[in-house]
Amino acid sequence: MTEIRLAGSGVSDGIRLGKALCYTHDFQAQQFGDIEERDIPREIQRLAEAKATSIKEIEVLVAEAQLTLGAEKARIIQAQKSFLLDRAFCPEMEKLIAKKLFSAEKAAEQVVGNFITIFSAMPNEYMRERAADVRDVGHRLLTVLTGTARVKLSELRDEVILIADDLTPTDTVQLNNKIVKAFATSKGGKTSHTAIIAKTLGIPAVVGVGSMLAQIRDGQTLIIDGSAGLCIVDPEETTIRRYREKIATETAEQERLQAYGSLHAVTADGYTVNIEANIGTHADAVFAAEQGADGVGLLRTELMYMSQTSLPDEELQFAAYKDIVETIGDKPVIIRTLDIGGDKELSYLKIPQEMNPFLGYRAIRLCLDQKPLFITQLRAILRASAYGKVKIMFPMISSLEEWRSTRSIVEEVKADLRQNNIAFDENIPLGIMIEVPSAAILARRFAKEVDFFSIGTNDLVQYTLAVDRMNEKVDYLYDHFHPAVLQLLQTIVEAAHSESKPVGMCGGMAGDMTALPLLLALGLDELSMSATAISKTKFAVSKMNVVACRQLLAEVMEMSTTQEIRAKLEVFVQTGL
Ligand code: PEP
Ligand code: MG
Repeated sequence: MTEIRLAGSGVSDGIRLGKALCYTHDFQAQQFGDIEERDIPREIQRLAEAKATSIKEIEVLVAEAQLTLGAEKARIIQAQKSFLLDRAFCPEMEKLIAKKLFSAEKAAEQVVGNFITIFSAMPNEYMRERAADVRDVGHRLLTVLTGTARVKLSELRDEVILIADDLTPTDTVQLNNKIVKAFATSKGGKTSHTAIIAKTLGIPAVVGVGSMLAQIRDGQTLIIDGSAGLCIVDPEETTIRRYREKIATETAEQERLQAYGSLHAVTADGYTVNIEANIGTHADAVFAAEQGADGVGLLRTELMYMSQTSLPDEELQFAAYKDIVETIGDKPVIIRTLDIGGDKELSYLKIPQEMNPFLGYRAIRLCLDQKPLFITQLRAILRASAYGKVKIMFPMISSLEEWRSTRSIVEEVKADLRQNNIAFDENIPLGIMIEVPSAAILARRFAKEVDFFSIGTNDLVQYTLAVDRMNEKVDYLYDHFHPAVLQLLQTIVEAAHSESKPVGMCGGMAGDMTALPLLLALGLDELSMSATAISKTKFAVSKMNVVACRQLLAEVMEMSTTQEIRAKLEVFVQTGL
């Protein structure tokens, strides 16, 4: 048999070799029929019972997820309950039963299908991914109605590689990474919760492989390469041998690097830098702590807002932040206030269509305009500051007026908490993201007033170079090694240090190994990145010499093109490590 190579998006790194288990909840094959008029009450009753059972099942899963994955992930599942309670969901099915004489199954299938179509057509990728949540609830309801037994993922006992059309977030949270070695799905995107959870659990995964995946049968031998986004079916002997070697190298490399995770990052000539994690959820915090993060350099709070169906209240936010802060212990946690707008939407927060959303009503601009929303978040963060080393960071600050308005709102909230004897850290540091060129240019003035900077290169690059970070047509122009970006970085770090303020970086450049010597030479105090990159980065730092890095920086700053700079850095990193 010749091997077949199927490509998809690698969303969680790692390579695994194993046997396939096809996981389907394939109701499409079934034809659901109609009923007689006299059966209407019975069908409506069956639907009501199925809804109640489904809600109970979800509640059990939420409780389990709370224990194993934390409150944040549990809420992703909890959000599915809201579909069952939605006025356009079950009541719509009842209407189809009563008016069109559909069986409960047929009515459920139709309404779920309509919801999936609506979500799948949404312009925002995040909202499109929510179709998977609806599909999950729909399958649950149909499973109960039809009495079909579905393979219980949490009860699998033999090691497998899971193959599915689409895994829902509830499926994914049930995966035991000792049993499910890897998975591949036909559908799915990089920002789906399924992808996020897979990464958190450390299960190599490839999504969006396409319909060919349906040809795979139980027991077939597979290789999943989550780093390359590859699924190899019935690999030949030579391929198996090659991949076994890769797995052995990967394991040895991980073991070697693991030791560096728990150490401080110190260069060969004694220069220290903090290596921190970018996180979005409690589970990410647990993983970051395991990987040896020196703290959290960026908590993207919008993830929690996105997993809700209405604005999260103060208590819910407080509990989530407190969970995270306690997990990180005595290390710092930088909580960034809501950064919504641009490519990130909240279904329940109506923002009128804009010509240029990235230049529009986004991040701090929205928060300053919607003060009650902002105050709720600030109260929750300040309350959580009583439980650890919390710092607050504001995104997309572009002028001193904006910063000062922000600071005065924080002062108002602090005064109110004080008056009500609610505990918080009186000396909580307040910092800003430097991700808009105007803030970078005025960095010296900002440095006099704020407690710290964190450079958001993802946005700083797009705004400095006028290159939309979401547009693949101009992707070739998007590069953090552009000399204009490097000049701004130098301005920002010098400005912070001239006022003895710490400056970190939490944009993608911070986790780029090729950029590392420059970042050390520039003098950044902390680098915050995805937790999976921490031990690798700490290891790389230990091999570097900051004197040599400074020499390299001096040469690079004289160069005029991105290409020259990139080439120079690549050679330095390859020969230096
Ligand atoms: C950045 O812009 O670099 C950043 C870290 O923020 P985000 O990617 O969330 O916009
Ligand atoms: Mg940003």
